[in-house]
Amino acid sequence: MPDTRAGWRLGVLSQMSLPSAGLSLKYRLRRAHPRRISLRRQLERLDRADAGRIREFQERRLRHLVRVAAARSPFYREYFRTSGIDPRSIRTVEDLGRLPLISRHELAERPDDFRTLPRWLMWSVHSSGTTGSPITCYRTITSSVFELAVLERQWSWFGVSADSRRVVLRGSDFATGQRGRPTIAVPGARQLLVSSYYLTPDRVDVIVAEIRRFRPAAIEGWPSSIALLAALLRDRGLRIPVRAVITSSEMIAPGQRTLMQEVFDAPVVDHYGQTERVAMAGTCEAGGYHVFPAYGIVELLPVEGSTERWEIVGTSLQNCGFPLLRYRTGDEVLPAAPGPCPCGRAFPLLGVVDGRVEDTFTAADGRPLPLPSSIVDDLSGLREAQVAQLRPGVFELRVVPGTGFSAARTHAHARRNVARLFGPGQELALRVVERLPRPPSGKLKAAVVESTHPASDGKGSPC
Ligand SMILES: [Zn+2]
Repeated sequence: MPDTRAGWRLGVLSQMSLPSAGLSLKYRLRRAHPRRISLRRQLERLDRADAGRIREFQERRLRHLVRVAAARSPFYREYFRTSGIDPRSIRTVEDLGRLPLISRHELAERPDDFRTLPRWLMWSVHSSGTTGSPITCYRTITSSVFELAVLERQWSWFGVSADSRRVVLRGSDFATGQRGRPTIAVPGARQLLVSSYYLTPDRVDVIVAEIRRFRPAAIEGWPSSIALLAALLRDRGLRIPVRAVITSSEMIAPGQRTLMQEVFDAPVVDHYGQTERVAMAGTCEAGGYHVFPAYGIVELLPVEGSTERWEIVGTSLQNCGFPLLRYRTGDEVLPAAPGPCPCGRAFPLLGVVDGRVEDTFTAADGRPLPLPSSIVDDLSGLREAQVAQLRPGVFELRVVPGTGFSAARTHAHARRNVARLFGPGQELALRVVERLPRPPSGKLKAAVVESTHPASDGKGSPC
């Protein structure tokens, strides 16, 4: 499911900006980490633990996190000093409710005040202002190792082992430097990256041959990219059976789900997370959507004006270098199915997460471009952004300026991203606006396909 706002841009696990060498190194580092085995054992034990044991684990981690935050994070040091609350009194999940909710805005204003470690000891991750303020977060390497172990645990429920071979489809940023090669094998990571850039009928035979030669246990990536590949295979009457289709970063349309399941003859295994790394959840083999309780504590906050939507509030239990307690993710969920889940786990259940939904764009030469808002992910100085397709190959980036905004810099950066992610031959205009109009649902769409305005030449007004 989605990496919504910051979220599913999962960022959770979108490593699309990493070149394959960097991806391989990061992956190897996590796989070789000395704590990896003990963390995996811990997760294995929790898999069959009852609710009491899970809670005990969470509260032990919570006490540790609060202690670290109160001692070393400037934000929480100040909070505990001025509020009169003794950090040692925060001992249980109920006690958490005495701490303040943290908004994305507060995090955007002073990210370094949350850090408990020097920057150079952690990995940083940025999220654009597509639907809010852009933010910078940090994560410790150990918490990243833990995150990978949590995902590998989930895959194991579907018979996909940690060292299984996976075909990965996200963006296409490596394609332009590949002299026409649609795939790259990542040495050491047992991954075959397939570029969305080449998901066209004339390339499908080459892609299928390379995937078959690779013998993957799973297909992993953005649902919109995987569904594009699945549609090409279906049109040729081809199937590539695997054990699981692993998805994240956006909502899955019912048609996409059916198509992926049929072509790959496997269940769709989705997971949800955010750039801020406060909570994770995902599908189990019985179809439940579970919070992963060792990763974070999830509270559900009623959404104003709705009786059946809740906002996910997360408290990280693993990222000691950047403690976020009661962070408002902005991601909303519908009511969960009544438990217990037939899988037998005591992990809490979530309803459908209302994640990122956007239209697939079309390049000037007719290629489909999945998840096109990825071109704004690393832009800075914006409060909000939306990219629109006016006609194939002709796009308009609409932005609400934020601190440090420069129209010339934003335009140049976005054009470079378009050339890198969409390929050459596209046009991009920039339009600066005071506010982006919301649809009736209130949820800003980060990428929209619009028909050409009859009164204009369709190129927008270059800034
Ligand atoms: Zn379950």
